[in-house]
Amino acid sequence: MSANSSRIQIVAEDITQLRVDAIVNAANRSLLGGGGVDGAIHRAAGPELLAECRTLGGCETGQAKLTRGYRLPARWVIHTVGPIWQGGDRGEPELLAACYRNSLRVAVEQGVRTIAFPAISCGVYGYPLDQAAQIAVREVRSFLAGDDRIQIVDLVCFGGEVRQAYEQAMGT
Ligand code: ADP
Repeated sequence: MSANSSRIQIVAEDITQLRVDAIVNAANRSLLGGGGVDGAIHRAAGPELLAECRTLGGCETGQAKLTRGYRLPARWVIHTVGPIWQGGDRGEPELLAACYRNSLRVAVEQGVRTIAFPAISCGVYGYPLDQAAQIAVREVRSFLAGDDRIQIVDLVCFGGEVRQAYEQAMGT
């Protein structure tokens, strides 16, 4: 298995179009859909996704829950709930780190080999991009260091600012 960093790719694409085993959704605690990437995933997956989400009883911040991907190219969707940025001293860094760790744990349990993450909390939840990117890269690297079952992790950037933040966090 290759070094951890070479298993991480920064990709500038619509996450709903990616042919990976699982995509991660930056959901809200209801899991009943919302704006941003959540809305895009529900639109692309079709109404069956919402129907399955209704059975899950919501999700706590920092946790992750799995559904099928329905009409998406991805077989699975891992729904995680990022923290709302409130200045940084309300446990936001730990909760954001937990989103990445728990999503990867759920992925491994399901036999996922390729997975794509959006920039969790970096949209309407207002997390500062640079700090979020550093947490994302740190958590993914440390997970990959301890587990060789996941082959590729895509960090999806929607917009140049997100790409810059990831490149800086990756040290490229
Ligand atoms: P949150 O509520 O966790 O902040 P958002 O959906 O508002 O979630 O934003 C999270 C990130 O997802 C933002 O960087 C946003 O630009 C990005 N995003 C929005 N739509 C897509 C998409 N279709 N594919 C990939 N990333 C997306």
